[in-house]
Amino acid sequence: MKFVDEFRNPELIMKTAEEIRRLTDPQRHYRLMEVCGGHTHAIYRFGLKDVLPENIDLIHGPGCPVCVLPMGRIDDGLSIVAQPNVIFAAFGDMMRVPGAHGSPLEHKARGADVRIVYSPTDAIKLAKANPDKHVMFFAIGFETTAPSTALTLQRARAEGLQNFSVFCNHVTIIPAIRAILDSPDMRLDGFIGPGHCSTVIGCRPYEWIASDEGKPIVVCGFEPLDLLQSIVMLLRQLKNGEAKVENQYKRVVPWEGNRAALKAMNEVFQLRPYFEWRGLGFISQSALRIRDSYAHWDAERRFNIPGIRITDPKAAQCGEVLKGVLKPAQCKLFARECTPESPVGALMVSSEGSCAAFYNYEHRKPVSISNANLAGVV
Ligand code: SF4
Repeated sequence: MKFVDEFRNPELIMKTAEEIRRLTDPQRHYRLMEVCGGHTHAIYRFGLKDVLPENIDLIHGPGCPVCVLPMGRIDDGLSIVAQPNVIFAAFGDMMRVPGAHGSPLEHKARGADVRIVYSPTDAIKLAKANPDKHVMFFAIGFETTAPSTALTLQRARAEGLQNFSVFCNHVTIIPAIRAILDSPDMRLDGFIGPGHCSTVIGCRPYEWIASDEGKPIVVCGFEPLDLLQSIVMLLRQLKNGEAKVENQYKRVVPWEGNRAALKAMNEVFQLRPYFEWRGLGFISQSALRIRDSYAHWDAERRFNIPGIRITDPKAAQCGEVLKGVLKPAQCKLFARECTPESPVGALMVSSEGSCAAFYNYEHRKPVSISNANLAGVV
């Protein structure tokens, strides 16, 4: 626990918060977007807003893969398990995501063969253990999880596994940030850059944000001190009139990324011309599809996929919350029709969803860095 203790040290946290206050211009209103859902979760979990000046607004970005997946893709995936002898395998955080006719868990309750796996490799094991069935792995995530899906597909091909396929929903982070910056209703001063997917893509892909858009970005870790230190680094840049990419998460993120992971992804995947994002609409070249050389393991080619398009319920304001235009509690359904126990939108399902994080840590269980022993929160 050595590292965790150090990055949650209350004394250092208060010192860093003081530094933030020193760097903040009281006449200015700062809007900093944390791109990654893991950051959103950490911000609420540790009550970091309580130690920030009021004129720093943290805007929650689109970096929760479950939250940005359109409902129709869930229904498309579930249409496969409606076929005989198919097992639907997915990570646990997909299980309660609502489709138009219920979540994977509700389909399971109605008799569909839906299983939770902890890695794509588990899905391969499942296929080997059930040779008379077909296992379809519902793959989801940014560049963080895409390499493990790529390696799994390489293994399936190398072993000639016939009863296994992947329904690919992997998306890429850079086009989403571009869409956010192109959005006319969005004003941002800088970005707390995603820590997880940067372990794969590195820091170079963010350079255009600084050079072309004039916005600073700091790739950031997930502990309280990581986040506060990244805010210090952003404020220093803003104070000096600079815009550059900095890497606060050097202990994990190599500047050039993970070459082996990128190579595996490149061999197995190619960019789709466009892909629909919940709340952001269609974004060109923002998602991955499986290359022709792996077509036999591509569920979209092995099965007849209906290509369902579903709009969110009218009152749900997931899109505005995803773009940071509204705060979770400003959605009309928040904590009324939409709760973690009965989610209407995907932002209320995943622990990285801003609505679920806000509900669990602010609305229901207030935890503040200023009144809690951080070591006890661990
Ligand atoms: S409260 Fe529910 S419906 Fe509203 S934005 Fe959040 S997830 Fe979407």
